[in-house]
Amino acid sequence: MKVFINPGHHVTLDSGAVNPVTGDREVDIAIECAELVERYLLAVGVECTVGQYNELYEICDASNAYEADLFVSIHCNACVSHQARGTETYYTSYNGQRLANCIQSQIVRSLPTIDRGAKNGNLYVLKHTEAVAVLVELAFIDNMEDLSLLKNSIDDFARAIARSVTDYQIS
Ligand SMILES: [Zn+2]
Repeated sequence: MKVFINPGHHVTLDSGAVNPVTGDREVDIAIECAELVERYLLAVGVECTVGQYNELYEICDASNAYEADLFVSIHCNACVSHQARGTETYYTSYNGQRLANCIQSQIVRSLPTIDRGAKNGNLYVLKHTEAVAVLVELAFIDNMEDLSLLKNSIDDFARAIARSVTDYQIS
């Protein structure tokens, strides 16, 4: 099984959401998490790669060229109120829903985050990848409590995502 891990946005061209107080950028947290997920998957013998591209079609092309079985895009959420908190995972297909459920369940089991659930989402990268695809919003980067979770516990998020891939394999 091959897993394509996509940290959302682009390190030089698209920061994603930014915490208005601290300046922490979604793209940096996503990259840190993706590289940890890669390390933990490789450690248990799951073939995987990390790919980040600015254009959404480039992300999908790379995942499809890699012939990924699973596609996991990693993001942080944001909300105009800066009050929203929690973790949610998007899918479009039946198997995507299975993987999204594994991710939600592993993350909320190992972190003190709010479970916003697995959600059917009409997202470009989910529709144009041939792999079983999900997009996980780890937590809200613009909420100070969620931000501290992201900064202090990114390793736990990564371990949870890696475990969810192995859960999905055996379920
Ligand atoms: Zn994002």
